[in-house]
Amino acid sequence: MTGKIIDGKAFAERLKSDTAKQVSILKEKYSITPGLAVIIVGEDPASQVYVRNKNKSTKAAGMNSFEHRLDDNISQNELLDLIEKLNHDPAVHGILCQLPLPKDLDENAIINAISPAKDVDGFHVINSGLLATGGKGMVPCTPLGCIKMLRAELGSLCGKDAVVVGRSNIVGKPMAQLLLDEDCTVTIAHRHTKDLASVVRNADILVVAVGVPELVKGSWIKKGATVIDVGINRIKKKTPAGEKQKYRLTGDVEFKEALKNAAAITPVPGGVGPMTIGVLLQNTVTAACRQHNVAEPKI
Ligand code: NAD
Repeated sequence: MTGKIIDGKAFAERLKSDTAKQVSILKEKYSITPGLAVIIVGEDPASQVYVRNKNKSTKAAGMNSFEHRLDDNISQNELLDLIEKLNHDPAVHGILCQLPLPKDLDENAIINAISPAKDVDGFHVINSGLLATGGKGMVPCTPLGCIKMLRAELGSLCGKDAVVVGRSNIVGKPMAQLLLDEDCTVTIAHRHTKDLASVVRNADILVVAVGVPELVKGSWIKKGATVIDVGINRIKKKTPAGEKQKYRLTGDVEFKEALKNAAAITPVPGGVGPMTIGVLLQNTVTAACRQHNVAEPKI
């Protein structure tokens, strides 16, 4: 028996279509058009693709999209000035600064300059604090989307043994916190974990966000587990000399082997990736509603 492949694309389309319905209600009922400002610094090709997709999806949902493309030699102060301007712009409800930033810029200072109410990525220290203490902040998109997928797959997550591999501020730590909020028993593994295989073997729910291709072996997966593979790794394909280098994407979990044990698993590509933008749009709607003090339309 093989496991189910969780269709992240279909999931993302449903999220986006729900968001578009919410946006049209907000426009009609309150004349509010949620607006998302995306800042991109430099020419990183992966970031360029992400920002293009975010811009396209924002407009498709009926929201305003404000793109700020900046040269990679922009100074810290110039970038902080732009954020300050966006913080005060009533048409902008969400602000996102595409990471990574060039090395000369202080990433933490820039993230923490974004108004917490407009921090739709949920990376501001106030929002991480609110998440850790059960408050009502903005929640990081990728982990929030993973929880939505897990709930759709499993219903209640209460009492499940959940293992998160990776402890970054962007994915691993907020993911563990959200699973804890769902009443899971949570273990966080990382690069210094002594016996990763035996930790993974205990997981009813396994979320892997590491950035190491196929680090987690299929044979480690518990029978019937639900696996969310967040990793996106670009692997060079054999390309004939003189042709442009081609790549394939792979996750952090050995997918085919994992399918033999898992009840359900997200593929890479087509799993967590597409869903992250869907949640970003939902976070922008949430931010707009809170800023205008109106209830979020229920779909
Ligand atoms: P990161 O580099 O900030 O963190 C990686 C974590 O993995 C660290 O906590 C580290 O301790 C752990 N780790 C590294 N090697 C390990 C090992 N051998 N064994 C156990 N743990 C190990 O990365 P990140 O920003 O959290 O991203 C992780 C992956 O998820 C990347 O591939 C990234 O591209 C992907 N990602 C995908 C999305 C999405 O939307 N699908 C969003 C964010 C990140």
